[in-house]
Amino acid sequence: MPNSRENLLPAVDPAYCKGCARCIDACLHNCIEMGNEINPLTGLTPVILHLEDCTHCGLCVTACPEPYGLHMDSITDDYSAVRPETFDGVVKTRPKAASIPSTKIPINPGKPILIKGTYASSIGAVLAGCRHFYGYPITPSTEGAELMAKLLPNLDGIFIQAVSEVAAINMLYGTGGAGLPCMTFTSSPGFSLMLEGISYMIGSEVPSVIVNIMRGGPGLGNIAPEQSDLKLVCHGLGHGNTQCVVLAPATPQEMLDLTMLAFELTFKYRNPVIIIGDGYLGQITGKVSLPDYMIQPGLPDWAVYGDAGHRGNLIASIDITEPDLEARNIRLNHKYDTMIKAEQRSDSFFCEDAEILLVAMNTPAQMAKGAVQQLRSEGIKVGLFRPITAWPFPVDALSKLIPQIRQIVVVEASNGQLEDEIRLSLSKAGVTQLPPISFVRRFGGILPQTHEIVEKIHALEGVVA
Ligand code: SF4
Ligand code: SF4
Repeated sequence: MPNSRENLLPAVDPAYCKGCARCIDACLHNCIEMGNEINPLTGLTPVILHLEDCTHCGLCVTACPEPYGLHMDSITDDYSAVRPETFDGVVKTRPKAASIPSTKIPINPGKPILIKGTYASSIGAVLAGCRHFYGYPITPSTEGAELMAKLLPNLDGIFIQAVSEVAAINMLYGTGGAGLPCMTFTSSPGFSLMLEGISYMIGSEVPSVIVNIMRGGPGLGNIAPEQSDLKLVCHGLGHGNTQCVVLAPATPQEMLDLTMLAFELTFKYRNPVIIIGDGYLGQITGKVSLPDYMIQPGLPDWAVYGDAGHRGNLIASIDITEPDLEARNIRLNHKYDTMIKAEQRSDSFFCEDAEILLVAMNTPAQMAKGAVQQLRSEGIKVGLFRPITAWPFPVDALSKLIPQIRQIVVVEASNGQLEDEIRLSLSKAGVTQLPPISFVRRFGGILPQTHEIVEKIHALEGVVA
């Protein structure tokens, strides 16, 4: 018998109902009420239907924004009957999306250009295929966002100045969830505001690139350079069991190169990637060579994207049952272990025969490099070990150097955050026989200077100037 309105009733599919309550408002006969149980598959609470007084008007179905949330159907409580694959009565298999890989497109790199660090990072993002930027201006990172605002509209991209950092990070959550390369620039206080969203993105395994141009703290601090957020990016990315690859460039060239790498890694691991630069690095101008390729992004099969193949995908960080949440954490831990093995990066400068080892990253590494050159000219065997990944800390490379080193000097623009990372990483790696560790530290917006590092080594070595 063909269906007439009288023998049809609305049916809700809990897998697609978002619990938005529009159907409740639409029904004049109070046939629909909010549910009281979270659907463990979606983390959302679907509505409940009481259809004794239903007049078959269909207004609820019209009000439902979800294509498969609510449908008029034969009287049934079998939800499989109203799944999209059976709408026309013919069982069909919904097409499953296949991953479309990214492709490299050759370009002419042209001559090197002179640009500041934040601009270099923006250009790296565009070359990596990023066409979605969300951010809230905060010095000293704003120029990166400013350049994206100029570039993206000409590239069919999206630039949104969000109402806050909280809004910006959640826009990244949505865009990354759709499988699209996206990024933000921020600075320390803004980064703090993003932490909740970052935790959600890690839990949901959503990619995005977050560039944090660190400034003086705590609190509002000032707008001068500091390495104030090392502790935060390595051990404090919001609530729960959270880790991200953290890249620490030292030059404008690395701002570009590591931004491109960040986009590769964020999709490789389905995990946000963080770039930390200090305020000086963000503002300093340097010579930057462009690569000879750019990336045309693909589309992963897991993306919550608006086509039929991706329609069945769901991204959420909620697992109501304890075993499910434990399983998710175990899966994340496996991913972190893979990152630790595969993604440690560092740079060594005059380390082969070094007896005194400077350890520094970001701009202080440049100051330390100058000190190594000066001290080497005096015959003092000094080398520089520079972590390029703050997390995972490149402990494998550092451990190999330890036996030949009689003194470590940590050079940093923070009150010992890098030294803590070194001690913790070596301890976890089982390296217990450490040489003495001393430091050159400045903070509050002041970077350690080359002459301060040289004076420190002279003092340790008993050299009278
Ligand atoms: S079909 Fe009409 S009466 Fe029935 S539940 Fe929907 S809105 Fe209410
Ligand atoms: S309108 Fe649709 S999605 Fe919203 S609560 Fe009703 S059935 Fe669910």
